[in-house]
Amino acid sequence: MLLQENIPLAPLTTFRLGGPARFFVEAKSIAEIEQAVALANTKSLELFVLGGGSNLLVADSGWPGLVLKVAIPGIDQHAGTNDEGKVLFDVGAGESWDRFVSHAIVAHCAGVECLSGIPGSVGGTPVQNVGAYGQEVSQTIESVQVFDRKDNQVRELCNEACGFTYRSSIFNTTERGRFIILRVIYALTPGGEPHLAYADLKRHFEGRETRPNLAETREAVRHIRARKGMLIVPGDPDCQSAGSFFKNPVLSEAQHEDLRRRAEAKGLILPSYPALEQSRKVSAAWLVEKSGFALGYGFGHVGISSKHALAIVNRGNATAADVLALKDQIQQRVKEIWDVQLEPEPVIVG
Ligand SMILES: Cc1cc2nc3c(=O)[nH]c(=O)nc-3n(C[C@H](O)[C@H](O)[C@H](O)COP(=O)(O)OP(=O)(O)OC[C@H]3O[C@@H](n4cnc5c(N)ncnc54)[C@H](O)[C@@H]3O)c2cc1C
Repeated sequence: MLLQENIPLAPLTTFRLGGPARFFVEAKSIAEIEQAVALANTKSLELFVLGGGSNLLVADSGWPGLVLKVAIPGIDQHAGTNDEGKVLFDVGAGESWDRFVSHAIVAHCAGVECLSGIPGSVGGTPVQNVGAYGQEVSQTIESVQVFDRKDNQVRELCNEACGFTYRSSIFNTTERGRFIILRVIYALTPGGEPHLAYADLKRHFEGRETRPNLAETREAVRHIRARKGMLIVPGDPDCQSAGSFFKNPVLSEAQHEDLRRRAEAKGLILPSYPALEQSRKVSAAWLVEKSGFALGYGFGHVGISSKHALAIVNRGNATAADVLALKDQIQQRVKEIWDVQLEPEPVIVG
């Protein structure tokens, strides 16, 4: 295990901004993770666990402690089946998420096809219960193998123990910082049909007589994502982001009614999709756009993507301070106009 010093973090994130890590190690095995944790403890360094860097905003001053990049490789498709006859895939936390999705589809296994094109590592997916187009990883995670920093033990957490809800789990709430995710076991449906619940996907296949297969669904999702700047495409200026910057707010019945009335008073109709309404979630993108932040809005080095109102984009040479200033401006305006508090989705580091 190589201990490095003053390593720039910007190139290791999709936002491509922020300062350096004072100390940095990459761990490709459980033994190396254990060594890195021991090193952080001995030197009293605060530890930050890095995956693919696609959900981070790193401070301009960087990280003063040790950054541990989890790079455990391997996709083991021969991990057996569970009680429901689903195929188990045992995947190293350092694998690319999209490479695993592609692998599952080639193996004709359903359950993650709508999550095609999401950047980042496998180990990052349980943290915020990654989701898109009607699927969330909580629906297919069988268990998560973790290193528990409380007692330095490797343990297995079953799905229920992870406490998954919308963009949340114990890993980013109650037990934040306690577990280092080593491997994730997914249970996928052999020969299963693709999940085609979302309007965008249905529209894509409109007029088709035969049902799309998993590979076609993956391609459709990637195509739709690219159109929205939600696929990392080298050279696309709308890709230097952390994806959606705000979560869709989940409102109480009274708040939802108040918002509907505010919209009506302005001659607007609050967008309603079945997937949002079930949980009284409202579209954060709609709130941002209807608060005066049009696609492409921005000042200087930072702005809103020209393809998606929820993505704050580094237009080149932006600082974390620039991003935070735009975030504050958006949150303030949305609160003033709609009385809704938007919550950032990316993790702010340092
Ligand atoms: C263009 C774009 C589109 C996106 N679209 C979506 C989307 O559709 N849906 C969605 O849910 N997200 C989306 N995201 C956000 C992001 O891709 C996911 O949250 C992803 O799972 C983050 O994984 P990562 O490996 O990059 O984690 P990082 O960004 O490196 O880290 C994120 C958090 O997870 C923790 N973490 C990472 N790995 C581990 C580990 N092994 N053990 C413990 N903690 C760990 C980190 O400490 C940090 O707190 C998008 C991002 C971009 C840039």
